Amino acid sequence: MNLPFQRKLMVLFIFLLLFLLLIQGYLIYFFKKPLFFSSLISLLIILFLGYIFLRILTQPIQRMREMARRLATGSSEREIQIYSNDEWGELAKAVDEMKIRLREKIEEVSRERDYLQTILKGMVEGVLVVDERARILMVNDALQKILSLSSEVVDKAPLEAIRNTELEEAIRGAIKEGKNSAFELTFPLSGGKTLEVNVVGIFPSPGEIGKEGEKMKGAIAVFHDISRLKELEKIRQDFVANVSHELRTPLTTIKGYTETLLDGALKEDVAPQFLQVIQKHADRLTKIVEDLLALSKIESKEFYLKWEPFPLSDLIDDVSDFVREAAQKKKISISRSIIPSSLEATGDRNYLEQVFVNLLDNAVKYTHERGEISISAVEKGEREIQVSIQDNGIGIPQEDLSRIFERFYRVDKGRSQELGGTGLGLSIVKHIIQAHGGRVWAESQLGKGSTFYFTLPKRSDTIISAS
Ligand code: ADP
Repeated sequence: MNLPFQRKLMVLFIFLLLFLLLIQGYLIYFFKKPLFFSSLISLLIILFLGYIFLRILTQPIQRMREMARRLATGSSEREIQIYSNDEWGELAKAVDEMKIRLREKIEEVSRERDYLQTILKGMVEGVLVVDERARILMVNDALQKILSLSSEVVDKAPLEAIRNTELEEAIRGAIKEGKNSAFELTFPLSGGKTLEVNVVGIFPSPGEIGKEGEKMKGAIAVFHDISRLKELEKIRQDFVANVSHELRTPLTTIKGYTETLLDGALKEDVAPQFLQVIQKHADRLTKIVEDLLALSKIESKEFYLKWEPFPLSDLIDDVSDFVREAAQKKKISISRSIIPSSLEATGDRNYLEQVFVNLLDNAVKYTHERGEISISAVEKGEREIQVSIQDNGIGIPQEDLSRIFERFYRVDKGRSQELGGTGLGLSIVKHIIQAHGGRVWAESQLGKGSTFYFTLPKRSDTIISAS
């Protein structure tokens, strides 16, 4: 019979008592009858008292056992409710105390876990954690997004999930030798992303040291997406190379002609011609430097616009005058649609003047003699004015249309230089329009002409009749 220890004790105790009293009863029955009955009564009383006594003894144990079971399942809420002052009471108090401490510890651990999960979720850097077998324990949302990982990477080797041997080796090195490493990785499959990776081992707690010869109990790899930085670095390098190249060409020419003049040509008939070439290239240098300064000013943090409302027709009148001479030289006509004087834009008049001048200057430059240029402006919705400058010039190939707003991008470099272009005009236009919250784009047909569009904020309280 599989009885608990206390019950076994009780049964043994009763059996012993019964056995003793049976012998006593047997002896009394043969020698004195009344004693038999009194012994029987005392036997019943002893049995009853014994039962009560044992119940009192075993009850705290049962309660403690019940409480321990509830503690193990984590469902213990109440106290043990043993109020005696003896050892049982002391033990119950100690268990209650332990229960409170345990609950506090569990709460602390889950609070820390919540903090950690929130941090990992909010991080822009990708995080990968592996255990001592170099198997993935977790990856955060950022890494899943950066590397387009599936959500089922847990318990896989990093090589399986991320497919990079350098990373795999770094992780194994961190676990086996405690070696921290930092390196850059490029992932052609994830859109050519460049990531800076830092791998560090996770130190074991004092009780875990020496397990299976591993130095660390895992490793953490942090991934920092530096693709944008790399891109900017490349743009900067290209820009410096372009500027140097653009400056070198006129400088070389100026230097060459000056040396020739100094070597004796100064006294010859060609001297004025040479000086004109020098002047042309010096002007070109000045134009490049001016455009570069304008660009750097617009791109700088100190750049700010002087916002003011002004009638668009006034501005168009002014800028048309700037290019009139050049247009007349090529017998190009400049017309404009009827733009009511009530159509007012809001923006920095000086900078917007530069936008018009650059676009009109290009239209004149890239249009043949007797060509036509037309300017128009229409309201677009509640807040915008759309301006267009159309020419019937040489046009722009479709493949170049998306790139002409880049710095130094020219469809035909020779022609642009010949016409005194720097390749920066449209880039300046784009920056100014974007600073006004507008958009700029071009449509063109090769050999037939181009139209440049841009939008401007409309003065909010103007009511305009359509032109
Ligand atoms: P550039 O000083 O060379 O004119 P821009 O930045 O103003 O530089 O223009 C970039 C390039 O866009 C020009 O070199 C030219 O190839 C092309 N482009 C600009 N405007 C026109 C236009 N109206 N017609 C044809 N091509 C144009």
